[in-house]
Amino acid sequence: MSLQRFQMFIRGEVCDATNDARYDSMDPATASAWATFPDASAADVDIAVKAAEQAFYGKEWRSLTATARGKLLRKLGDLISENTELLAQLESQENGKLIRETRGQVGYLPEFFYYMAGLADKVEGETLPIDKPDMMAYTIREPIGVVAAIIPWNSPLYLTAIKVAPALAAGNTVVIKPSEHASASIIELAKLAQQAGFPAGVLNVVTGFGPTAGSALTSHPLVRHIAFTGGSATARHVVRASAENFAHLSLELGGKSPQIVFPDADIDSAVNGIVAGVFAASGQSCVAGSRLLIHESIYEEVVQKIADRAARIQIGNPKDAATEMGPMTTEAQLNIAEKLVATALEEGATLRHGGQRPELGDASLTGWYYQPTLLECPKPSDTLMQEEVFGPVAAAIPFKTEEEALALANDSRFGLAAGIWTRDLARAHRLCRDVRSGIIWVNTYRVVSAMAPIGGFGESGYGRECGIDAVLSYTEKKTVWINLSDTPMADPFVMR
Ligand code: NAD
Repeated sequence: MSLQRFQMFIRGEVCDATNDARYDSMDPATASAWATFPDASAADVDIAVKAAEQAFYGKEWRSLTATARGKLLRKLGDLISENTELLAQLESQENGKLIRETRGQVGYLPEFFYYMAGLADKVEGETLPIDKPDMMAYTIREPIGVVAAIIPWNSPLYLTAIKVAPALAAGNTVVIKPSEHASASIIELAKLAQQAGFPAGVLNVVTGFGPTAGSALTSHPLVRHIAFTGGSATARHVVRASAENFAHLSLELGGKSPQIVFPDADIDSAVNGIVAGVFAASGQSCVAGSRLLIHESIYEEVVQKIADRAARIQIGNPKDAATEMGPMTTEAQLNIAEKLVATALEEGATLRHGGQRPELGDASLTGWYYQPTLLECPKPSDTLMQEEVFGPVAAAIPFKTEEEALALANDSRFGLAAGIWTRDLARAHRLCRDVRSGIIWVNTYRVVSAMAPIGGFGESGYGRECGIDAVLSYTEKKTVWINLSDTPMADPFVMR
């Protein structure tokens, strides 16, 4: 089978790497190459950043009013809507996510653009009630400049949309470096932006690897803001790179999110929420609810129900609408899951379901599949209770009291999301107040909206995406002072 050939998107045109280097991208379901992409070098990144810088200062983009930028974003949302199937198929192909999930995610994608389109002309400065009688002072919010968006492979379009839509709404220009494992859908998105009418150079995509293209982008002197989603280890490189130029930073990193189940909860609903939280997308979700804290009085019942549901999960071809779990996106990620499960067993965990690569009926599915896996961990300090798997692996532990549940929930260096399952309103609110986490879902899990901020505490990162503040995070505040008096400047050595 011949490989699909993708090109990068720079200055409004598709292009190859200047040295023509390419790499193959693998189909996670079959472990065979399906496409090739340009392997961008630092020189290619430099071209893309300079294109974005030129567009940022260029007349075409600068002369657009904020309202006009909003209209372009709205048009892009419409074009995404018209191309839902193409984008959903590409994303499912490249990261092995279920087509039923990518259709749903891409179907919602326009909302991010519509929401940010509406905000574009609501970015306002302030007139300050200044305490100097002869002075007037006001602030202006301005775009920052070239934004570097670094994207992981698990939800490429969604994670791009929540960066690109507010960055463009605020008037910045963007260079995206998608994951080397999932670049195709993002290239198509950039083409749609061009079709929507965004000037050339406003949105660019360079493809390639982290240590080369990613590193060249995050350390480029013309990049003014880095919006990064990925793992903590990579984030440390990015933070160091940003120090060179004091680029603004937002970091959306990993998690080890707790799901806390109390005896008064709707147990079946909690079980579904837990399955959704850790087995959907094969657990490759930053908000995966992978630490199951279950009250001792219902512990065995809940664990057994999760194990039973896990056993019934239809594992198969992600393109088949009946499939419930597809492959993991990369072999490396599968190896990490296997290694962490082996460590858990060595540390004394009990396997309640999974722990193996599944036998699949379809001989063509030779890719990176792993069973939905449930273990009971004896100690909160166990590796599996502390380390992110980014795979379909859940670790359960019982608790006796609400205080103990809270202590367990907060016993993590991460703090991205948490699920609380209870019908007790006061208890729910107490835990919403006390659990240290950027997102808390009560009696539900894995719900997102363009209007609701996303981001973490601790090692889950800093900065928030989505919501009104997201657009402001892509601006700088300028303060303007105007002397209203006709009196000449007096003593130059005294601060006024
Ligand atoms: P990763 O950190 O390996 O890669 C993320 C991106 O960074 C990729 O584009 C990669 O090419 C690039 N990169 C790698 N090295 C780089 C470097 N030295 N300089 C600049 N860029 C570099 O992450 P991944 O394996 O693609 O994704 C999994 C991780 O992402 C998990 O930890 C997961 O929790 C996290 N994640 C977080 C969120 C969130 O919103 N908080 C969402 C999805 C994924």
